[in-house]
Parts: sequence; C-alpha cells; structure tokens
Amino acid sequence: MRDDTYLFVSDLHLDAALPAAVTQFLDFLQGPALKAQGLYILGDLFEAWVGDDDPEPCRGRVCEALKAYTAAGRLGFVVRGNRDFLFGAGFEARTGFALLPDPVLVEIGAFRAFVSHGDVLCIDDHPYQELRSVVRNPRWQRRFLALPLQTRRALADKARAGSKAHTGRQANTLMDVNPTAVTQAFLATGTRLMVHGHTHRPGIQMLDIQGEPARRIVLGDWYEQGSCLRVDGSGAYELLTLPRG
Ligand code: MN
Repeated sequence: MRDDTYLFVSDLHLDAALPAAVTQFLDFLQGPALKAQGLYILGDLFEAWVGDDDPEPCRGRVCEALKAYTAAGRLGFVVRGNRDFLFGAGFEARTGFALLPDPVLVEIGAFRAFVSHGDVLCIDDHPYQELRSVVRNPRWQRRFLALPLQTRRALADKARAGSKAHTGRQANTLMDVNPTAVTQAFLATGTRLMVHGHTHRPGIQMLDIQGEPARRIVLGDWYEQGSCLRVDGSGAYELLTLPRG
C-alpha cells in the first residue's frame, strides 16, 4: 500500500559504531518510507564515504537496503553532505538513488522548496568553507579516489578528528546558517520554503522575505532518534520526530 507522500531525511551519520541508528533507518526504509512514493536524503547519510568502491559491510548493508527500496518501485534521491560528498555514479548504481545538485528546487503539489544539505548557507564558518572548496574540486577528488582504500580511510579518520576539534572550538552562531545567505537563497530562487539539514537544529523558522511569509525547515540528526519531513501530494507538510523503539 502506497500513499501520495514523499519523505525527507538528513544527517543520519550511519556508521558501524552506532548500530541503533542503522537499525532504525533500515526499519524506516521498510516501514514509513515504503508506504511513501519516494525518499529524499539530504546529505550525511553516512558518517564517512571514501569512495563508491568501499566494501565496508555496514555501509554495504545500507546500500543494499536502498537498492531494495528503489527496486520496489519507490523513488530515491540524494544530495551530497559534507561527510559523503564523494558519492558518485557508483553509489547511484549500488542503490538506485539519483544524485541531485545542491541546492535543488523540489516541487510536490503546492510545496515548492529550495532544498540543500545546508552547509552552503553556513558562510560564517570560514575555515570550513575553505576546506569545502578544496574537497569539492573535481581534480582533488580524482587524486583522492586514486589512492588505495586503506590510505583513503586513514585520511578520512584524520579529517573527522580535525572536524570534531574545529566544531568544538567554533562559536555556536558561526556554525549555523547565515541569515543573509538564507534571504539571498529565497530571493534567487523565488521560493518561500526551504528544507535543509547539516546544523542538527531541527525546527521550522518563520521568516519575512520582502513582506512575504517564508519558512525554513531544518531536519534533525539521527544520533538519538529519527527526524523526517513528510510532504503529501497536495504539498501539506509536517516535521516529525521518530522515536527510537
Ligand atoms: Mn553536514
């Protein structure tokens, strides 16, 4: 049985070290997500992704479950996050999920939204934005992906440790979206609705964009519980917390 809804999730940070989140997501794929038309994953599905050829079993199980989901006739879309920015054609082939550009416009009935992982809006975090411009460079990515798997894993572990230290040092406001970047995104796309993750601060923010009401929907992470936006065919939506059973 399928209804007319689409679901949006982000920041699952799936990793063998946090099996409860993996189990919850696998159950989610076979439960609520299977009842929907399709699923949008807005980045940081995995804690790390060092290449589409990585045979690590936990990530492999998740990819197989995504493949089963699309094989059942559901639609799957993925936006790259800052942890899994190396998703490529191999990931699409393994899962049947289609990679989307970031940002991307998504329309479901009256729901017309600017959709992004969200890190592009965090322009006050200068060291992070510098790092982002390096690692998103296709030439840097080709060189990295040519390294042996073990080297890539070791470098990714080092990068994660560096990122943790950086997040710990930075002031809280610098890690959030920049209000001007948000306004510009609304104006540039003509949308009055935005959906993103990355900041791990779930909620719906009401804004005024040139006299018109706008809303910024922020998806939560899956460290302690699930978080999901449900949009039905008319465009009505609801931000849900998914308790961990
Ligand atoms: Mn992120």
